Amino acid sequence: MTAPAGGGWETVIGLETHVQLRTASKMFCGCSTAFGAPPNTNVCPVCLGLPGALPAPNERALKLAVRTALALGCTVHPRSVFARKNYFYPDLPKGYQITQYEQPLATDGKLSYLSPDRGVATATIVRLHVEEDAGKSLHDRFPRATAVDLNRAGVPLIEIVTGADFRSPAEARWYLQTLKQVLEYSGVSDCDMEKGSLRVDANVSIRRAGESALGTKAEVKNINSFTYVEKALAAERDRQIAALEAGGTIAQQTMLYDAKENTVRPQRAKEESHDYRYFPEPDLPPLVLPPEWVPEQQAQLPELPATKRERFVAQYALSVQDAAVLTASRGVAEYYEGVVHAGAEPKPAANWVMGEVLADANDHQEQLRVPPGTLAQLIALVQGGTLSHQAAKRVFAELAVRGGGEPRTVAEALGVIQVGDTNVIGQWVDDVLQAHPAEVTRYKSGETKLMAFFVGQVMKASKGKADPKLAPRLLEERLRA
Ligand code: ZN
Ligand code: MN
Repeated sequence: MTAPAGGGWETVIGLETHVQLRTASKMFCGCSTAFGAPPNTNVCPVCLGLPGALPAPNERALKLAVRTALALGCTVHPRSVFARKNYFYPDLPKGYQITQYEQPLATDGKLSYLSPDRGVATATIVRLHVEEDAGKSLHDRFPRATAVDLNRAGVPLIEIVTGADFRSPAEARWYLQTLKQVLEYSGVSDCDMEKGSLRVDANVSIRRAGESALGTKAEVKNINSFTYVEKALAAERDRQIAALEAGGTIAQQTMLYDAKENTVRPQRAKEESHDYRYFPEPDLPPLVLPPEWVPEQQAQLPELPATKRERFVAQYALSVQDAAVLTASRGVAEYYEGVVHAGAEPKPAANWVMGEVLADANDHQEQLRVPPGTLAQLIALVQGGTLSHQAAKRVFAELAVRGGGEPRTVAEALGVIQVGDTNVIGQWVDDVLQAHPAEVTRYKSGETKLMAFFVGQVMKASKGKADPKLAPRLLEERLRA
């Protein structure tokens, strides 16, 4: 990030992340959570807020929430309380949201992430609570009218609240990236921001560098894509700096991010609601967790990204950066270990996965199209001198298209098996030297950098199949004679 105009300001950011839990049905009724259903088809009296309908908590959602809390090192409270958060909005049919307030499911966790400014930094997780989503107002379906789709109303969410721990928009983004990894590893959410499964609100304030008291904060909402997180927070930071440097003050208000204009604007006053009149939800008893849930969910947790990264560094002698790339997603990490377990050396396996494999996955909906055992065989052909690295890339591309196969057979079919026979290479070498007598004379009179030229000619004559280690050796022998 470039330093803001004026300098001398410190940015302080806290994040509230809403995460949709991976369940088939909603938080308090049996309606489907499937994305993309026709509007208002996944609804029932409970999530429509019809009189007399009673909520019943979704056990799977609660277990996933407990699992997330454990993944974030939180204290899980055996007893928590659902509360009503009252506000009026067209997409909230009951006129209140069921959430947790004074007694949340979990508190006091932490998450370490790699700060671009400070190295490994730790964000505190102040609380994690369970709640339901609201519906969606659609402003672009009908002219001069707003449509309401209640398919999302009642979808299970957790809200993860950090302390005011981030010192730059970039740190906020890195925390979110790390949080997303942990959620994906734990299998609790698909974290698809485009489908609204992960949404971020931020509290932003600034203060003079060196001050310890917090400045007045504004809340930034509507950050609905990962790419926008950093931009939205930078826009709000810059707005606050400009206001204070012009002698103004910061109002405690809610700002909406406009991605098209890359600006923040205040939410209309009447959209705001400071008094939610929280009270315990009378239709639900306190949530008392069966004692076996915590060990059960703890057992469901996989090795988490930070631990896996450290293990990769220690076990496979990889750099922290390489280990971070390989463990960014659980699928890639498991793939990498599959290649190594199939016999590939850790370092070349890492290079192949970070290079060809991830590039191919990037172009094909994140599919890992070449099975790990097949890649290990391919790497062995390169290590053994049967294939040049260039040829192996061509074989890999072919294997990816076929979704597997025998690397040697594919290499033979492509005619790229490396020639290691000194007689065959010797013939190419002789042909090249005969065809370039002037260069041979210059080489013999001391212009040894021409070796690269000769090797290039031999590779060309062999259509890339000559063993690149043998060609210069044979050339040198002939030229010395
Ligand atoms: Zn329903
Ligand atoms: Mn919330």
